[in-house]
Amino acid sequence: MSDYEQSELYKIRHSAAHVMAEAVLVHFPDAKLAFGPPIEDGFYYDFDLGMGDDGKANTFSDEDLQAIEVTFRKLLKKNAPFVQSTMTVDEALAFFAAEPYKIDQIEELQRTQNVTEVGVYKHREFADLCRGPHVPFTKKVRHNAVKVMRTSGAYFRGDENNAQLQRIYGTAWHNKEELEAHLEQLEEAKKRDHRRVGKALGLFHISPLVGSGLPLWLPRGAMLRDTLERFMRQAQLERGYLPVITPHVGNIELYKTSGHYPYYAADQFPPMEMDGEMFLLKPMNCPHHIEVYKSEARSYRDLPLRLAEFGTVYRYEKSGQLNGLTRVRGFTQDDSHLFVTEDQLEDEFIGVIELVNYIFKTMGMTDFSARLSTNDPDSDKFTGSPETWEKAIAAIEGAANKAGMPYTVEPGEAAFYGPKLDFIVRDVLKREWQLGTIQVDYNLPERFEIEYVGEDGEKHRPIMIHRAPFGSMERFVGILIEHFNGAFPLWMSPVQVMMVPIADRHIDYAKEVAVQLRSAGMRVEVDTSKSRMNKKIREAQLQKIPYMLVVGDSEMEAAAVAVRTRDNEDRGAMVVADFKEHAAEIIATHALTL
Ligand SMILES: [Zn+2]
Ligand SMILES: [Zn+2]
Repeated sequence: MSDYEQSELYKIRHSAAHVMAEAVLVHFPDAKLAFGPPIEDGFYYDFDLGMGDDGKANTFSDEDLQAIEVTFRKLLKKNAPFVQSTMTVDEALAFFAAEPYKIDQIEELQRTQNVTEVGVYKHREFADLCRGPHVPFTKKVRHNAVKVMRTSGAYFRGDENNAQLQRIYGTAWHNKEELEAHLEQLEEAKKRDHRRVGKALGLFHISPLVGSGLPLWLPRGAMLRDTLERFMRQAQLERGYLPVITPHVGNIELYKTSGHYPYYAADQFPPMEMDGEMFLLKPMNCPHHIEVYKSEARSYRDLPLRLAEFGTVYRYEKSGQLNGLTRVRGFTQDDSHLFVTEDQLEDEFIGVIELVNYIFKTMGMTDFSARLSTNDPDSDKFTGSPETWEKAIAAIEGAANKAGMPYTVEPGEAAFYGPKLDFIVRDVLKREWQLGTIQVDYNLPERFEIEYVGEDGEKHRPIMIHRAPFGSMERFVGILIEHFNGAFPLWMSPVQVMMVPIADRHIDYAKEVAVQLRSAGMRVEVDTSKSRMNKKIREAQLQKIPYMLVVGDSEMEAAAVAVRTRDNEDRGAMVVADFKEHAAEIIATHALTL
């Protein structure tokens, strides 16, 4: 059980789910109950409201939700104890005879776990099949610390062949203050939603004609991404990585060798046939990089070999799962594969941890932790021998400990070919995002039979490290947009400076200054519109452009600019050369403030 499952908040939310379901039954006495578990930040409960005359499942309206919330709160105040009991399976089947989903669950428990008794929690007349735990009284859930949030469709047991149910999401907290803070945070998250900010700032676009989950990078978004890629390339060059470029498709035999096909076929675009051969859109870059390794005979002198590529891969995601840049069907990994000897493994792994550290800190993401995902020896999802898994896990643990990187362990969450260390970043809203990953792999080298000649003249098998600090460019940029709310640090900003000529006669001077700043590598635009100065400044601020340089008669005379920032700070006049030096310094040091 996780810490959360043992917490008071978990009991509160679990209990709130029961009482909310009780409230639903007040308004919809014929609703059938499915499941109602606590989740992160709240709980939900699924109901079957039957079919309407139109043959479609009945749903909850906004008015229904409001009425349910009022009743829900009343029922919490009207105190009642939660009473636990156990029933034999036969008793429970009789007791829940009118609840088909409860019957289904009891039979499932009997079939899969051979249970003879089930737990029931009851308060007032509402009884639910449940293991608990609960708070002792309904009043322990504060009526002013709960809220009915929204409704959505859901299938029983998440299977679209099953009945269509109506899910109500609710939230519950220790007290009113916590609820309010949570609602405020949601509001802030909505404002920062990368889909909304990305559209307002002209960063990306999703065209139905191109396809859902296949984002188009608009010029400003492409500039942002390119800046991040250049930053990463530089960091990698300094650490001895070598660039490679590989195609977007590969022969299916490649993926049969790697094991990506057919085991992961459900996550891939379907194969395509050409000239009697089958090809796949690349789901992973690894097999391609292995073939690069195999392009020549390798000796221990070549190792470690660190091959890096911004490699675009394609995965099948259900259309309902797609979300802006964070869940897509084609994305580019900042991928690299390190081919190392046994002796080099730990140092190389530490090197990658340090690179990840450097990158996140530069991005201003200082609140992050690591999670070690291991195999589940009882599952057939994982390839390779138990010994290689043990060795790989020990190597990661050793490297993480030496690098001083704390981590938690998640059994069964590894990639099929090896364990991995994932990095979880908390953004300014304290939301957790899984970003970069580092994996140790003894299995793909085995499957592809890759070798190097050791100092002893014998053939040895290298070990692979897979790593992608950003994870995917799409997802990472989506997260950055929300983290910075579109106000990126100067070095990342797609447009760094907007020139604001006061009148038409200042346009030529504004353009001259732009040329000077561009010569120092800065990204500068000139607002030549007919708008008045204040409007031009406001526009640039809305676009979150870091600096606005206003130029009028006095600035022209003094070879100067009047510096304004996107935070509406008026920094006064500065000689162009001085501004250039100031901004160049901020860019070069990747400073987070202007
Ligand atoms: Zn319960
Ligand atoms: Zn890989």
